[in-house]
Amino acid sequence: MSRAYNFCAGPATLPESVLVQARDEMLDWRGTGMSVMEMSHRGDAFVEIAETAEQDLRELAGVSDDYAVLFMQGGASSQFSTIPLNLLGDKTSADYVNSGIWSKKAIAEAARYSDVNVVASAEAGGFSSIPDQASWRTSADAAYLHYTPNETIGGLEFDFIPDSADVPLVADMSSTMLSRPVDVSKFGLIYAGAQKNIGPSGLVVVIIRKDLLGKARKETPTMMNYQVIADNGSMYNTPATYSWYLAGLVFKWLKAQGGVKAMGEINQRKAEKLYGFIDTNEFYANPIEPRFRSWMNVPFTLQDDALNGVFLQGAEDRGLLNLAGHRSVGGMRASIYNAMPEAGVDALIQYMTEFAKERG
Ligand SMILES: *Cc1c(COP(=O)(O)O)cnc(C)c1O
Repeated sequence: MSRAYNFCAGPATLPESVLVQARDEMLDWRGTGMSVMEMSHRGDAFVEIAETAEQDLRELAGVSDDYAVLFMQGGASSQFSTIPLNLLGDKTSADYVNSGIWSKKAIAEAARYSDVNVVASAEAGGFSSIPDQASWRTSADAAYLHYTPNETIGGLEFDFIPDSADVPLVADMSSTMLSRPVDVSKFGLIYAGAQKNIGPSGLVVVIIRKDLLGKARKETPTMMNYQVIADNGSMYNTPATYSWYLAGLVFKWLKAQGGVKAMGEINQRKAEKLYGFIDTNEFYANPIEPRFRSWMNVPFTLQDDALNGVFLQGAEDRGLLNLAGHRSVGGMRASIYNAMPEAGVDALIQYMTEFAKERG
């Protein structure tokens, strides 16, 4: 059996060496006589795993002591409600940017708790471009400004960090976390579901500026209260121990690759190769304004939609998997996260070249 190139948007491919290490450590983690899955989360062995993972993440992302790092559960989607419950305080509205399907979901959930002011929307332009920040209608009285730096489904990525002045900036980095350097100090809160660039699904990493803790509304469920989670080192209840461990292995792998800066260079090269090919081959198209094309998720269409099924079957036969676009948009999408080797992108381009020659 050989490993395929898995272009799934999430859960996504993981570094092979991480999986090999997890396999090797499966039955007996470093002489403890048990798998990480079977350990007490309060025991020394797991506490070391957990603390090392947090330390490595802090180093990789450049997270200062002004921030708490939380390993929570419920995926990124649970944060859509956790954020307003914790950050609204005595404010009555929050600002949101609508750049696609994930921002819309965050907006819909926030609207259950407060007034939502959509300060800018990419919808009129078919989500192919980010409105210039000069046109945003932000409010100085908003509890926070929320945006989605990379829209995983539409393949639309911000190439700038919005200026939110004194309003805390909140970002759903699920599909862009650790893919390129980011100045964390510009943010009040960053969150990321793990299954794209970090590890197994279910786990969600939250990086929150400490002065934003302790403001949860009184009806906030205990499990969603950032202060409680922070005070308990993300172990108020039993954390997702195995996912946390795997995330730790991915962080070690990232450090061995040269960290986020080196990763960013590789990711940019991979993305430019694929978009460059799409742009020069008239059989394929990508609708996003080049400046805002995602380095992580590359949607594309074929000249003739009727060939989609044949294209996907041919890809599968070569071990190029999960290239179908999201069910809401159709077409194709190649997710090329950190763990997708450049050789995977090359193999995809090779296949696309041959397919276009045969069918174009
Ligand atoms: C995948 C994704 C989500 C949802 O993550 P879950 O862990 O399934 O809740 C939210 N936002 C973005 C940007 C995503 O890519």
